[in-house]
Amino acid sequence: MACKKDHSAIQDIMADLPLDQGGKGRHKCAACAYEKGFEAGKELEEIINLSEIFDSLEESQAKNQRHKSPHSAFAQRYLDGVQAYYDNR
Ligand SMILES: [Zn+2]
Repeated sequence: MACKKDHSAIQDIMADLPLDQGGKGRHKCAACAYEKGFEAGKELEEIINLSEIFDSLEESQAKNQRHKSPHSAFAQRYLDGVQAYYDNR
């Protein structure tokens, strides 16, 4: 299954992520991983299983998230989520 979400708002961010063509997150949608990172960060989630999270994601061969590292996407956005947690207290 391929991701059909509209990730047009974050294409500049996706363009800057490192390439990951053969790693553990192979072909998983890095843009969806980015969103998951924010969700985890704003809940201050401490037990995070990236393997399970990536298994739940659709694959993507589309746009700037194509072949980009979902690990990098998740980690980058996790920090934004943590910041949002503290900003919203
Ligand atoms: Zn996606």
